[in-house]
Amino acid sequence: MKITHLSAECYPIAKVGGLADVVGALPKYQNDLGAESSVIMPFYNNAYTQKNEFEEVYTGTVIVGRQFDFRLLSLKDNSLGYDLYLVDIPELLFTPSVYSDYDTNRFLAFQVAALTWIAQDAQKPDVIHCHDHHTGLIPFMVSHCLAFSGLAHIPTVLTIHNAQYQGWFSQDLITLLPEFPASKFGFLEWDNSINPLAAGIKCAWRVNTVSPSYMEELKLKANGLESLLRNESAKCSGILNGIDAEVWNPETDHYLIQNYPNSRVQSGKKANKAWLCKTFGLDPSRPLFAFIGRLVGEKGADLFPEIFSNVLSSHEISVLLLGSGHSGVEQQLRHLKDWHGGSYNCYIGYNEELSHIIYAGADYLLMPSRVEPCGLNQMYALRYGTIPVVSSVGGLKDTVIDVGDGGFGIRHDYVNVGEVCHAVERGVRLYEDQATFRKIRRKIMKIDHSWNASAQKYIELYESII
Ligand code: ADP
Repeated sequence: MKITHLSAECYPIAKVGGLADVVGALPKYQNDLGAESSVIMPFYNNAYTQKNEFEEVYTGTVIVGRQFDFRLLSLKDNSLGYDLYLVDIPELLFTPSVYSDYDTNRFLAFQVAALTWIAQDAQKPDVIHCHDHHTGLIPFMVSHCLAFSGLAHIPTVLTIHNAQYQGWFSQDLITLLPEFPASKFGFLEWDNSINPLAAGIKCAWRVNTVSPSYMEELKLKANGLESLLRNESAKCSGILNGIDAEVWNPETDHYLIQNYPNSRVQSGKKANKAWLCKTFGLDPSRPLFAFIGRLVGEKGADLFPEIFSNVLSSHEISVLLLGSGHSGVEQQLRHLKDWHGGSYNCYIGYNEELSHIIYAGADYLLMPSRVEPCGLNQMYALRYGTIPVVSSVGGLKDTVIDVGDGGFGIRHDYVNVGEVCHAVERGVRLYEDQATFRKIRRKIMKIDHSWNASAQKYIELYESII
């Protein structure tokens, strides 16, 4: 079975969030199951593309407003575990960051170029698998654009990693798309805009979210798409993400200060915590609560300044935060260091290496998300023996069971300052009971959240439509 994934992000080539981790791991696990999975993504100007060698496999042109030349490049070595193809459109895509203010034209050109290449290739995929709104117009183009009529028989799958972002653009820009019969316009339109995510939901043969709970939540609240998802529910499902257990393995993770198997979790975590506390001026004898992620409302980040002030004033704990996002929140979080130096610190920015050390060195990982399609951080935390403190939403609900229910994490039902502070307090009490705390650590490291089971579920989904 030949599967072609299309995505704006893919780890380790270009990562902004969880989308990259998923697209970087799922194809590898599918190939282990005997599939022939590959990834097509844009060719950005970043450290990965500068360091690695690529060869040209195709050249062509696309018209998106005007004509652009493009090259299709493939990665020369096969170290990723799947074939990687990159669409090089220097004027549009060769930027240091993945996203910009011109994404309508950039990702439209990316999608048209990718389909142009697939359309002329003798080896057609059995399934085209699109990820999020950046590739959400592909199911429409495959089904309805005249230039791609030769691909119309190929089943398409759309995975929604985050329905908040839909890629809306004005109906005035409709001429940017390749020609299609006017009668098909309704597939593109939602609420008086062209909506690539809505178009993907309407036109893909199957649609899935990255956890079962998130699909149910979206039918009630999906930034305007709830009725569409309810109408299309017959082809919609939820498949929980996995983690790349080769990359996220405390025994071999090359970013860690000290590697550790389950049997040495105490000493291994202690060494990583010691490094973090020394680097960020924190007291290693206190329980360390950490946060890693985007500083946006979805993650509950606007509540952090008040939450941290409260818990740091009332408990002997340390808090360390790694993230970037809303500039007002960033500023408040920096300012908090003046009040709670020695028990609080933050790194505002993106730092892959530090994130791994935090997963390893922290005692607790905070995730008070208002929306969490799947959430990978809690699964990385579990694998590294760090207890997740999470809201009962989306994928967090599907992966974390509260200690009070015989589980291994701390859950709170609502996202507000009081509930999160109470959850932290429960963490402090659990930390005082070191025998139970250590038992939970050893237990959570053994939970299998690797892609093995979910990769198989995707294969079954494809089989149902081929
Ligand atoms: P998102 O909604 O951001 O995609 P996920 O939980 O699905 O959330 O995935 C987040 C991924 O991004 C994780 O691998 C996490 O470690 C990483 N990440 C987020 N912010 C940062 C940061 N500032 N530095 C390093 N890694 C980060």
